[in-house]
Amino acid sequence: MKFFINATRTLFLAVFIWLMIKGAMVLWLGIFGVSLLLALLFGRIFCGWICPMNTVMIPTEWLSKKLNLQAKDAPKWLKSGFLSWSMLIILILAMIVLKKLAGFEMPILLYVLLLSVGVTLRYKPEVFHNKICPFGALQSLTGKFALLTEKVNFNKCIGCKLCESVCPSKAVIVSKQDKKARINPTLCHQCFNCQLMCPKDAINYGNKKNKKGEKNNENL
Ligand code: SF4
Ligand code: SF4
Repeated sequence: MKFFINATRTLFLAVFIWLMIKGAMVLWLGIFGVSLLLALLFGRIFCGWICPMNTVMIPTEWLSKKLNLQAKDAPKWLKSGFLSWSMLIILILAMIVLKKLAGFEMPILLYVLLLSVGVTLRYKPEVFHNKICPFGALQSLTGKFALLTEKVNFNKCIGCKLCESVCPSKAVIVSKQDKKARINPTLCHQCFNCQLMCPKDAINYGNKKNKKGEKNNENL
């Protein structure tokens, strides 16, 4: 499974680079647009499987840890959450104005890609994913209604927190009260890290509606 996910990410990164070289980024924005709608059914699969920012952030995080660059926490202003939406508006306006006034095609995807690497060299990936990425902000709008998503079976969960430790977007949290993990579909990238890590097979991808008698995070 892990191999399949990584192969998919690599393939889409190659497509992204190819489209960038060809100057056809509008096609990539088309893929993104379709993925926004698909998120209503499958969750934020774009973020976990397709997004080139996420794909380059994985080795960047590894490097950051290796070089001991990763800060424990991000500054408050970075975590406030207004940045992703402000960036989205500023980037779209700048793109339109530069195109109209100077005929310049602003490579916003490249800028966001470089920003994702820069931020992840210093901070945990969740900072970029949840607080900075303008595309992630859009994905969260439809992703929160996902019909299919990662979910936790409370009957199996032992609260070991291994899932928390591998989640790139802080979407899974183990409750202090009942020691059960819960997954927030608004933040979840459907990357399967937690499912593959869980020693009790308590996490699976499926319909968020409960099966009879099965307790899971969708009760909350
Ligand atoms: S890894 Fe599995 S058993 Fe451990 S807290 Fe997460 S869901 Fe529960
Ligand atoms: S909750 Fe699981 S599937 Fe969702 S982003 Fe976190 S690790 Fe990935």
